[in-house]
Amino acid sequence: MIETLRRSQNLSDEQLKILLESNQYDDELRENANAVRLEKYGHTVYLRGLIEFTNYCKNDCYYCGIRHSNRTASRYRLTQEDILECCKEGYELGYRTFVLQGGEDPYFTDEKVCQIVSSIREKYPDCAVTLSIGEKSHESYQAYFEAGAERYLLRHETANPEHYHKLHPDCMSGEHRKQCLFDLKSIGYQVGAGIMVGSPHQTTEHIIEDIRFMQELQPDMIGIGPFLPHKDTPFRDESRGSLELTLRLLGILRLMFPEVLLPATTALGTIHPLGREMGLKMGANVVMPNLSPVSVRKKYMLYDDKICTGDESAQCINCIQARVKSIGFEVVSARGDALRIQKQKEA
Ligand code: SAH
Repeated sequence: MIETLRRSQNLSDEQLKILLESNQYDDELRENANAVRLEKYGHTVYLRGLIEFTNYCKNDCYYCGIRHSNRTASRYRLTQEDILECCKEGYELGYRTFVLQGGEDPYFTDEKVCQIVSSIREKYPDCAVTLSIGEKSHESYQAYFEAGAERYLLRHETANPEHYHKLHPDCMSGEHRKQCLFDLKSIGYQVGAGIMVGSPHQTTEHIIEDIRFMQELQPDMIGIGPFLPHKDTPFRDESRGSLELTLRLLGILRLMFPEVLLPATTALGTIHPLGREMGLKMGANVVMPNLSPVSVRKKYMLYDDKICTGDESAQCINCIQARVKSIGFEVVSARGDALRIQKQKEA
């Protein structure tokens, strides 16, 4: 089954269900996923510096610690100067991609976002800017793109409409989120989609739908991590996603999307102390160390016990570099575009 998956980059729903629900293929999956990753990307691990610039959010996603209704969250916004300071520090440390992530915060108007993006591009023309600020209009996405943002991360969360409604209030829709991803792609962004593994009410069939949606979208990056509860959300008593299933899905995705960028996420590092290392061995090839000022890190608490939020973790890059090296891979200081783009640029 794994051979077929590797060769044809596809499997039937029935086969995917068997693969997702059994642990007996995990070793074979890891060997093959790692081989494909070595074939495509070698031992390289790309770095993205994550700048969490606002935890204000107008949305009320049931799983998320910075949801609007969480009155206990202490809210903050970074200024343009703060953000540029993060980039300066990041640039000196070797980062060549900055990911600006935040809640959906109306304070950051399109004009402000464009100003921030263009000022980063002006100061650091050899760096890529990625935005991860939620659902916006085609027009807004177009404006950010023209200001110099080339990449956008917007996990679709779940491709199944009923499941989507179990994770979000009625005013939000999965269809709109999917439309945003297609808009972003049509504008020319490199896009990242993805899901939380083991989010409440998720079934194997939902994950298969997610895979089918991503086959249609053909994203440049796929971000997955286990769902982790947050104590001040409606999902406080739900159980965490599984480490094993997250790793298995990473392996499947590497074989189905050989050239996609696959991050070993912070949530994976939170659910197990060596989660990110295990992810990298299962085909992941990107890490996103936290580059936010230490003073705000505890406030961008999407789920309980998020790692890299203490004073001791000021420079996540050193820790990540050592972790990546310990398993025989190498962090590189490069923009790290998806292979599709690297080939386009060479041609
Ligand atoms: N406002 C932006 C950024 C959201 S935070 C947006 O809408 O895209 C980034 C990602 O963190 C989310 O897409 C979600 O998949 C993940 N996340 C949020 N809460 C989580 C939780 N409790 N457990 C695991 N992942 C979570």
